[in-house]
Amino acid sequence: MGEDLAAGGVMAKLSVDAVSEIRTTDNVIAETLGGRDDRVVVVGAHLDSVPEGPGIQDNGSGSAAILEIALQMAAMTTEPRNKVRFAWWGAEESGLQGSQAYVDGLTPREIKNIALNLNFDMIGSPNFVRFVYDGDGSATEAAGPNGSSNIEQVFLDYFAAQALPVEATAFDGRSDYGPFIAAGIPAGGLFTGAEDIKSEEEAALYGGIAGEQYDPCYHLACDTYDNISLQALDQMSDAAAHAIYTFAMTTSSINGTDKGSDKAKKAAEALEYLGNKLRR
Ligand SMILES: [Zn+2]
Repeated sequence: MGEDLAAGGVMAKLSVDAVSEIRTTDNVIAETLGGRDDRVVVVGAHLDSVPEGPGIQDNGSGSAAILEIALQMAAMTTEPRNKVRFAWWGAEESGLQGSQAYVDGLTPREIKNIALNLNFDMIGSPNFVRFVYDGDGSATEAAGPNGSSNIEQVFLDYFAAQALPVEATAFDGRSDYGPFIAAGIPAGGLFTGAEDIKSEEEAALYGGIAGEQYDPCYHLACDTYDNISLQALDQMSDAAAHAIYTFAMTTSSINGTDKGSDKAKKAAEALEYLGNKLRR
């Protein structure tokens, strides 16, 4: 059949059982009342799931983590120095629609006022690895905008202090940080694995099962509450809280580096060296 079609001159009838329609969705955005609005920390997680399943791991895990962090920050008496803007993105699974619409709607001034974007998409994979976005491109050849290496470094330092091994994961544009890095905004974040297969080395480091998917229910109906590692969610949520609060209190490590000055490049090179030393 396939060969006949390839040879040409053949008519085929195809019937597809699918829904194609225009729908509307929303981003849910909440920000701190205080903090400098010219150094905004945008913290994002997508709120939708694929139609096939409830999406508790992808991305209930990230959405719930940043909701809890937002609630905890709201209950604190200290004011953040920089404004923190929490965003629950809509329609990520349909092509980063929510975050893309948000970034597209920003004026050049508003883009300049965003210091960084932190993204948390799948942070409770049952067969997890602790992945940190490879801001400096040292492991994956896809660096984020200048400043992203400094964000990665905050996560690397945190996990090193906890004696928890981590790996780099590529800035491959598969989640909502994509529109931000495309606008030149430094970004970073965490991930615990999707459809890729855990190696023997990873199983030795993180536990779990070698030869199986990090998330066996990735984009499937079985992505329910049973499809979560609470240990991974706990560790990654703490790291997220650490990074969010760090950048809520100072963005000096990223300010001025996003324009690619010589000084910034040298700092990034030094950090890259450190990052390689810390990474296991
Ligand atoms: Zn996702």
